Amino acid sequence: MSGEHKILSIDYSKCIGCETCESVCKFANDTPRIHMTRTRDGVMAPLYCHHCEKPNCALVCKRGAIRRDRDGAVILQTMHCRGCQTKSCLVACPFAAIFETDKGVMLAKCDLCANRRQLGLGPACVDMCPCGAIAYVARAEAEALETDASRAAFARVMEHIKPSGPAGK
Ligand code: SF4
Repeated sequence: MSGEHKILSIDYSKCIGCETCESVCKFANDTPRIHMTRTRDGVMAPLYCHHCEKPNCALVCKRGAIRRDRDGAVILQTMHCRGCQTKSCLVACPFAAIFETDKGVMLAKCDLCANRRQLGLGPACVDMCPCGAIAYVARAEAEALETDASRAAFARVMEHIKPSGPAGK
């Protein structure tokens, strides 16, 4: 059931913007799937895929290049992606978590470290965050971890990337 699938959850109120998660992701995946952004108030924050229960990116891709894998991760099948000019998935993501690359693969997104999951490991960024800001937990557990501070910090990041707010998970 989708509610039991594990997702990444970053508590922006704990995050110090050190960029370790982006660097670790680049080390593990060659092309980083977490990208730092500087919010309007000058704070660095990582943008990342929330592996939505109803992923807009998958809905809009006419080639069916984005799908959910058996662990519930929303993955981009690069062999099916043609990097179309509309970049519909990139625009549709409410979390600005699909990224253009300068490599052969034109787009990149988090797959919750699929290679590591095959080995029984979790996403590489989780253990390396020096602040314990990243959790790899079931969606319900992620919601239970929310605090007033984390919700406020999340709202600040969302206001930065989409002034009208996220379209919903
Ligand atoms: S590693 Fe942790 S503290 Fe550093 S930017 Fe990423 S989430 Fe924030």
